Order: sequence, then C-alpha cells, then structure tokens
Amino acid sequence: MNPEQIRNIGIAAHIDAGKTTVAERILVETGIERHMGRVEDGTTVLDFLAPERDRGITIVSACTHVPWGGCGINLIDTPGHVDFTLEVQRCMHVLDGGVLVLDAGAGVQAQTETVWRQMKRQGVATLALINKCDLPEVDPLGAVASLEERLDAHTLLIQYPQTGPKGLTGLVDLVERRYRTWSGGKGTLVPLPESLSDEVEVLRSELADKISNLDDEFLEHCLRVEESPSGQADPQAMHAAIRRVTRAGLALPVMFGSGLSGMGIDWLLDGICAYLPSPADRLAWGSRAGGALRLPAPDADAPLSCMLFKFQDQGKEELAFLRIYGGTIRPGDELWNPRTQEHERVLTLARVHAEHGEELASAGPGQIVGVTGIKASATGDTLCDPAHPLQLEAEPPPAPVIQRILEPQQDADRPALAQSLARLVHQDSSLYAHEGPSPGQWTLGGVGELHLEILAGRLAQLSGVEPRVGKPRVTYLETIEGVSTGTGKIERTLAGEVKFGMVSLAIRPQPRAWSETRTLSSGLEVTLQPEISMPNPGQDGKSSSTGAVAPNLQPQIEFGPTCSIPDPMRSGIEAALLGEAQSGPLCGFPLAGIMVTVVGGGTRPGQDSQAAFAQAAIVALRDALGGDETQVSVLEPTMSFEVEVREEFASAVMADLTGRGAQIEGFRPEGTLRVIWGMVTLYSMLGYATGVRSISQGNATYSLRPRGQRALTPGDLESRGLSFG
Ligand code: GDP
Ligand code: MG
Repeated sequence: MNPEQIRNIGIAAHIDAGKTTVAERILVETGIERHMGRVEDGTTVLDFLAPERDRGITIVSACTHVPWGGCGINLIDTPGHVDFTLEVQRCMHVLDGGVLVLDAGAGVQAQTETVWRQMKRQGVATLALINKCDLPEVDPLGAVASLEERLDAHTLLIQYPQTGPKGLTGLVDLVERRYRTWSGGKGTLVPLPESLSDEVEVLRSELADKISNLDDEFLEHCLRVEESPSGQADPQAMHAAIRRVTRAGLALPVMFGSGLSGMGIDWLLDGICAYLPSPADRLAWGSRAGGALRLPAPDADAPLSCMLFKFQDQGKEELAFLRIYGGTIRPGDELWNPRTQEHERVLTLARVHAEHGEELASAGPGQIVGVTGIKASATGDTLCDPAHPLQLEAEPPPAPVIQRILEPQQDADRPALAQSLARLVHQDSSLYAHEGPSPGQWTLGGVGELHLEILAGRLAQLSGVEPRVGKPRVTYLETIEGVSTGTGKIERTLAGEVKFGMVSLAIRPQPRAWSETRTLSSGLEVTLQPEISMPNPGQDGKSSSTGAVAPNLQPQIEFGPTCSIPDPMRSGIEAALLGEAQSGPLCGFPLAGIMVTVVGGGTRPGQDSQAAFAQAAIVALRDALGGDETQVSVLEPTMSFEVEVREEFASAVMADLTGRGAQIEGFRPEGTLRVIWGMVTLYSMLGYATGVRSISQGNATYSLRPRGQRALTPGDLESRGLSFG
C-alpha cells in the first residue's frame, strides 16, 4: 500500500469515555466485524480497578487494520492507565494521528488532559470525537468549550450537533453543508432544513475565519472567493486547509457521535482519512554513527528500518509489533538491533487483527505488522538492515520506584514461574526482576503499585501457578552530602610475594539535579527520572537492597590529574568502587548521585597488585563514607498525583492526602467533580487504591507518576522501619 494511504492512529480517552466502544464500532462500520463487541455493563461507577479491565480489552485489540475509503487504517490501542506509561509512550511513538474521545456529558476529564499532553509531546495530530451524544440531555457543545478551556486547544467546529431531550437528533457537516438526522437506528442524509440554514452559514463562516487565521493559503482562497458570486469558501479548499492545520498540530477538529449507537462514526472515519497525517507526512528521527538525522520519506526500496513497540502473547509465541519506517520486510529477513548488537530473524510476518493474523509475504514503509522470531530485543528498540545500521529515536524506559518480592508456593512451580517472568520482563522494559533477597525469591521492580499488581496477576495466568507475592515496597537509594576523603592501603605477603596497593580518594555529591531534562533530536523534551535498574544478583548477600543506579544517577569515578596510580591498576579500581557503591553505608541501598575522585595512592614497582589496589579502593571508599564531613542520607521516590473525586467526598480525600504528607499544588472544580493535584512520597501512597476507594465510596480515580527523589529524615527512617548498617 502506498504510504500516503496509510493512517496509523490511536484512540485515547479518559476511562469510560468510550474508547473501546468507539473502536468496536469502527470494526463494525468498516465491515471487519458483524456485531458490536460486548462492553461490560455497570461501569458507570468510577472504579479504580476499571483500568485493569480496560487493559484486558486493550491487549486483545493491540492493533487492528481496517479499510476505509481507499485508506488502510491501523488502529493502535494504547493502554488506559498511567502505570503503563512506557507502553503508552511506545505506542504513541509509532502513531501518526490520534482520536481523542470525550464523554459528551463530562467533557475534558483528568486523564483526557494526560493523554492530550502526551499526544502533543509526541507531535501526534489529533481529531476530537464528542462521544455518547445519544444520551438524553447531553451538552456536546459544552464539551467543546471544555476542550478550549482546559486543554487550551484550538478547536475547529466542523460539525454542528442538534440535540433534543433524547440526545442527538441531527448532525450538520459544516464543510459540505450536509445534514443527517436520526430517529433511532440508521441515520439518513436529508436536505438541510430552511430553519437551520442561517445558523449554519454563520457557523461555517466562523469556521472559515478560524482556519484562515492559521493558514495563509486558505486566507488567500477566502479573499479570492469574497469577490466571487457565491462569496463562500469552497468545501475542497476547506478540507485541504483543515488537513494542513491539523497535521501541523495547530488545530483540533471536533466531531460528534456515539460509539454505542453508531451515530457519526462513518463521518469520523472520513475525517481520519481526510485530515490525519500519513506516514509520508511525519518523518521519524534517528541517528547514524552518533549523528542525528531525519529519516527520508518512506521508500519501499530503502534499507529496512523498523521500531519494535509492543509485544503480545500468542499462545506459546510472542508476537512483536513493528512499525516500518523505511524499506520492506519479509519473512526470513535478518534484522540488526543496534542496541543489543545482535541479529534477529523474522520467522513469520502478519497483518494483525485482534487475535488473528493474516500472513503477509512482505510489508512496506508506514505499515504496522506483527512478526514472530524476535528473541532478545525490547520495546523501543530499532531493528534494521544489518548493512545499514540506524538507530531510531525512542524515549528511555522510566525508573522503577516500587518493588515486590515474589516466590513460588512450592519448589515444583519454580521453572514455570521463572520462564513466565522472563517473558514478562522481556515484554515490558519498565519491569525489572532479579533473584533474591533470599534464595528462591525474586524481586520485581516496577513504576507503580498497580503496574506490579497487574503484572503479578499476568504472571499467574501465564505460568499457570499462583506465586506468593510480598507487599509492595518502595525502592530506596543512598546519597551523600559534603566532601570527604579516605585512604586505603593493602600490603600482604602471599606465597612469599608482597602484594601492594594504596588508594586515596575524595567523594562529593554529583553536581546534578535529581531529575534531568534532555532534548531529543526531534525536539521532544524528556525528563529522565533518577533511574534505578536492578542489579545482577549480588554476591555479597546484600542484594535485598535495590540494585544499581542507572545512567543519570550512577556513581561517577574519575582519576585526578595528579594521580600516580599506574594505568593497569585503574580499571580494577573502578570496578571495585562501582561494586562497593552497590550498597551504601547506611542501610545497604545503592549509592546514587556521588562523584568519586581518585586523587593518588602509592606504587611500589615490582610489588603492585591489581587485587590489592582494588581492595585498597574499597577500604578508601569506606573510610571516606565513614568520615565526619560526610553525611549519608536515604532517598525515596516522590510522585506527582492527581485525584479526581466527586464533590461531596473532596474534603475527605483532601484531608487524607494532607495526612499522608502530600503537598497540594492545585485544586479545580470540574462539573460535579473536584480535581486535586500535587506531590507526595510514594511510600505514603502505598495502598492508596483501597484507601481512596473507601473514603470516596468508590467515587474517585487517581494517577501517580514518578517525579523525583527526596532525602529522608532520621524520623522518616524509623517510621519506615529502615535500619542502619
Ligand atoms: P473506555 O473505558 O473508554 O474504553 O469506555 P468503554 O467503551 O468501556 O465505555 C464505558 C461505558 O460507556 C460502557 O458502559 C459503554 O457501554 C458506555 N458507552 C460507550 N460509548 C457510549 C455511547 O456512545 N453512548 C452511550 N450511551 N454509552 C456509551
Ligand atoms: Mg475500554
């Protein structure tokens, strides 16, 4: 298929706005499915576990291909919950366009904002659908106003809804001046009634004005037609201009309908094809040999470049979803992963629809396909032609902030659990696992309580055995304040030979913030949280602590200009220091944000020993950490929170948050809801799902996102049951 006819789009929404229902309706409308899929009833209560159910649906329909009006639309379902941030980001990354679904009754809700921000960040061009217009007494135009007010979106009212006591009765297509009415069942296209025509002309010229403020070409068109007999902008010119401003992210066209009854969904599909970008309109960023580059327009004959953005279990196999940016992929192809520096071989290639696939002999640029055979790659990885290595740009995985210990109920369960765990870790780069703290146990690290809860559930499902799972625990780090020095000297006689090593060093805090903002070459700004990655199982028996610290907080080691230690000794010293930094002096948590400068040492030609220098370095570091000038503190993750709660429970929720030591940063009414946001430590939010449910009688939803790190006071340490030494 010509890349210009491909639309890779995602549907995003606040929970219960109708994302699943709209997607199901699209399948029916495009003839892929005969009947609407069943959406569970009784979901009107704001149940925090709703995202779990949501995710279930999400996984089945990870990606679906539907034909419409000469276009091929790949619908990519993004997970609904922020605990799956990485998956959302990975999916967003391969989208060209999106549909933002709103509940006509509720307008913009907390998560609508979150997904909108994400789409903006990723430069995803978007259309809005005001859904549930079939419900009585809805105010679809009020929902449009909330898009302007809350999202600061530049909306384009391209349709005009007519509502009565029973919901939507008619819809005007303002561009084409078409009118459609419903009285139950299928809508019919009817001539625009006389009574509406004045209003429609006013709205249409308002629309034309709004577009011409954003698009010079259309402005010129309008100026030209003003002198013509009709005096009206031409529909084709209008479509083209809406396409340009939407693709440029300047405006948000708004459409209306109902996923449940099907009203307006065919026009939505027309809008997707007409206004949202194709892969040819949105060129990806990558790098080759360290230099950033913008990929050329999709070309089937170019060297292959794909991004792996999602895995899906398919029986015993794992299906990897690839978005192809350039070139053509075929079964049997050998692909190169520049990150792992390993080859992968494609076994089968399929266009995916829900659980079934349609085998393909080849797929070209812009397409999204499912392949089997991928073994060592992770989501966010580039797979490319081995002869033309290229790295596509992707955001790094978020830091794990929480962990749970997991063990088999009985020894016989161990192999099944190990195998399934490996698969889950492989599929989700924000999930970490390592063995320990005790033999036979694993420690699982993730980005949120719900993340780990759901993954523990999936693990049981996948392995067929129920593991014992410990309580969620926050991942801690240790860091230092102040500068201090230390010295270590080792002199030993082994088999009559003297082994000598001596190191003196200085430690100080790394001059960097706890979170770091980096700009990718695409202009996208990403905030790197202090990342923590899990260590290899420690040999020192201390692996009950969290593990190594990832890039931006990793301990840094340098050799001072006056350091006289011979070169051959230096790599051993470095490795020893990094190993020692795996467990801090206070509670055994990994050291983070610390700079170690080896300033000198002794050397005795003929007696210098690598092992002795390594040992001396460890002694020196311990000496420095124990110095009076140094203060060691424990860091714990802080989170940004947002709670959306029914008015009558807002003060109780607020009081509870304050009791948890939260810093409230804002408060906003939203219809009958109240939105509260701010910062809180992850520790004090453990178990919040249950807590907030009981306080609000189920009338609250919330989200938590990693934000940074905070040093604990001695009192905090005690209340958290963290022991010294
Ligand atoms: P999601 O969480 O965004 O995927 O929302 P769902 O598609 O699961 O829908 C949530 C609830 O709203 C379900 O009970 C749906 O039946 C209902 N719903 C979704 N779309 C519509 C609609 O257009 N009209 C009406 N009346 N109900 C809808
Ligand atoms: Mg859903």
